[in-house]
Formats: sequence, C-alpha cells, structure tokens
Amino acid sequence: MTREHHLREARQSFLDTLVRKGIRDQRVLEAMKAVPREAFVGPDQAEFAYDDCPLQIEEGQTISQPYIVALMTEAMQLTPEDTVLEIGTGSGYAAAVLSRIVKKVYTVERHRLLANLAEERLAMLGYNNVTVLCGDGSLGWPEHSPFEAIVVTAGAPSVPQSLVRQLAIGGRLVIPAGANHYQQQLLRLTRTGEDETETENLGDVRFVPLIGKQGWRDTEDRAS
Ligand code: SAM
Repeated sequence: MTREHHLREARQSFLDTLVRKGIRDQRVLEAMKAVPREAFVGPDQAEFAYDDCPLQIEEGQTISQPYIVALMTEAMQLTPEDTVLEIGTGSGYAAAVLSRIVKKVYTVERHRLLANLAEERLAMLGYNNVTVLCGDGSLGWPEHSPFEAIVVTAGAPSVPQSLVRQLAIGGRLVIPAGANHYQQQLLRLTRTGEDETETENLGDVRFVPLIGKQGWRDTEDRAS
C-alpha cells in the first residue's frame, strides 16, 4: 500500500471516529476532512496523523487530539461570516480547520519558533485568511476585537477577563480552565450582555498550560 493510500484510508476512518464520538456539525466534519493533518507534524509523526490522539510538536508542545479539535470547533457555534481568535497556534492545524469555516482567523502563539513554522505551513497550504502573531495570547488581540468566537487551546487557571472583554455580544469563548495544570473543564462562556455571561461545562479535558499574564507563570511550562 502506498503512503498516500494509507493516509487516505486512515483519514476516512478518522472521520468515522469523529462521527461515532458525537461530532454532528457538517462544516466541522468537512473542514476536518479537508485539512491534511500530516502537513502539521514532523515526518516521523506523519504516519500517526490520523490516529485520534495528540502528537508531539516542537518546543515540548502538542498538536491536540483531532476529536478535541472538532469538539471545540463545534462548541464555538460558528457561521461563515465570523471573525475568530485562537490562543495557542501550536502547529497551525486548528487554525487551518477554523479557516475553512469562518471568514477570518487571528491566532496567537507564545513560542516564536512555533508561530513561524505555523505561518509558513498555513501560507504554503493556501490558508490565506489566517494571521499569526507571536505574543501572550492570555491578553487576546484587542486591535482586532470584537470576535464572534475565541478558542483557547491551552489550559488556564481561570477564565482571562481580557478575552471575555474581546467577545462580541453573543460571542462564545471556548476554554479549558481549572486549578490543576494538566486537567481542566472545557467551558463555553457566552457573552449575553455588556457585563453578563453564561457558562456551560462541556466536560473534562487535558491540555498543556496557558502561560502568560492571565494564565500560569512561565516556570510552569512543562511538556505533558
Ligand atoms: N492549536 C494547536 C494546534 O492545532 O496544533 C495546539 C495547541 S497546543 C495544545 C497549546 C499551545 O498553546 C502551545 O503551542 C503553547 O505554546 C501555546 N500557549 C501557551 N500559552 C500561551 C499564551 N499565553 N499565548 C499564546 N500561546 C500560548
């Protein structure tokens, strides 16, 4: 079997897995089907690209489990006109998935190497509606706010108020949060009014820590 054939088959069974685990939003499934996850990991990991598990990337970080990417993307309740912010670009994979669903994606990564690699990959693959910034995403990206949705792909000790303030009214923040470094609750917080929010708990998840002014301190950046 050629490598391409193996990847094609693996990609189909990976989509079946997402559906079996409960992903229903067709735009999310279409986007997950279209983005080549193997292009976002090193060559040594490419054969595992369609396994439903996180994989190691540079700087001791991870590319999230595909089911979790799909779950978080679905939880953002996106429409094609939305402008969204992602905190934790990592490999750029989730930004690529988002870019196929919404009008514009801004994404922030604290590691310069990861931000540069993600920017290169996204450009090479033609995801031209994504802009990458290297910086502390716990503070958001106020210049481009308000956002219809914000997703944080690292675990925060609590919900950063900077991010809540950068949501449009009706906007959704999807974030893993909790006092434990590597075990969080996945929250969806909807900004229902100027100073009002509603929070839903979508279940337990496990992410690398969000390091920054409204996250954990940087001595706590350890690989999971
Ligand atoms: N979304 C990524 C992908 O598709 O590959 C996976 C993200 S990985 C689980 C979490 C990322 O958050 C890491 O790359 C980490 O460096 C980054 N991160 C942690 N704290 C951050 C912060 N304050 N601002 C921006 N990025 C941060």
